Amino acid sequence: MKAVAVFPGKREVRVIDDAPEPQLQSPTQVKVRTHEVGVCGTDKDIVSFTYGSPPPGLDYLILGHECLGEVIEVGSAVKGVQKGDLVVPRVRRPCPHAICTACRQGHPDYCITGDFTERGIKEAHGFCSEYFVEDVAYVHRVPSELRQVAVLTEPLTIAEKGLRQLGHIQERLPWRPAPGRAVVLGGGPVGLLGMLALIRRGFATTVYSHKRAPNPKEAIAGAVGAPYLSTQDVSAQELVRRVGAADVIYEATGVAKATVDVLGALAPNGVLILTGVPSHGEELTLDGAAVLKQLVLHNQVVSGTVNAAALDFDMALEDLSHFRATWPGAVERLLTGRHPPEAFVDVVNGKVSGGIKNVISFR
Ligand SMILES: [Zn+2]
Ligand SMILES: [Zn+2]
Repeated sequence: MKAVAVFPGKREVRVIDDAPEPQLQSPTQVKVRTHEVGVCGTDKDIVSFTYGSPPPGLDYLILGHECLGEVIEVGSAVKGVQKGDLVVPRVRRPCPHAICTACRQGHPDYCITGDFTERGIKEAHGFCSEYFVEDVAYVHRVPSELRQVAVLTEPLTIAEKGLRQLGHIQERLPWRPAPGRAVVLGGGPVGLLGMLALIRRGFATTVYSHKRAPNPKEAIAGAVGAPYLSTQDVSAQELVRRVGAADVIYEATGVAKATVDVLGALAPNGVLILTGVPSHGEELTLDGAAVLKQLVLHNQVVSGTVNAAALDFDMALEDLSHFRATWPGAVERLLTGRHPPEAFVDVVNGKVSGGIKNVISFR
């Protein structure tokens, strides 16, 4: 079958036509025909050979971890999913160690050993192929009306997990805080999906991103009523003056300097949620004492979040339905390009089109 594969040893990324077509190996598995695969910064790191590893014993890794597909075959013990259903798969699989409470409790997203596998990223093939096989426990059924946007489920789960943690963190306050103000740092797909999730939860949300308006990201923010400000024109202090200090800052850039700079906009008792993964060394001058003093004197929390669990996928699918009903067309506008598998590397490196979220289509 056709697949997009990276050969780290040869430093090659290409479409292969002879990948073995996977077959059901257990009665609880489903076979899925891939419809769409989203690409993101993680893929960029993999195709530049700074991240990612093939399954043991193989010299290549099939890429793709953000996927929408259609079930074409089900094992005899599969329940809850049937032939013809649309599904999105989760990414991470648990480590084998008894000591890892997180994995043993079904939460490899909190794995403590680092020996988890991730489809399309770490030691397990991804979904950027005509077919894949997965245990039904790792796929989520997608309502057919979400067909056009469900490839965004996985990136939205980043926000879902981050905001779920935010809720737990703020239980530290002796009263039940109103949603308050949020700043989303970064206007990429994870940022804009986080924006929608924050607005749905009642936060007065501002997008704070590098690129100056007008641009497509600002247009989407505007369409859902979120102010958009450029980090090039507006300092953290000016941000506070214009929209007020942020009870939550949702970071989705992976840029260290921008993240440290925005700390100045965090309100007392505020929480900074970090989702971006800085991928290259970035020199940074930091008054460490001032930062720590601020965190202590204002009861602030900095919280990192990675990957997501089953409940985050369920919540993401519910949110996608809600977003589409509340803001018709807004979610669709995040998907700015659909490309053939052969274009994978160019799409990942931003050479095919700019836009917001580009996907590989197998249909
Ligand atoms: Zn991704
Ligand atoms: Zn583990």
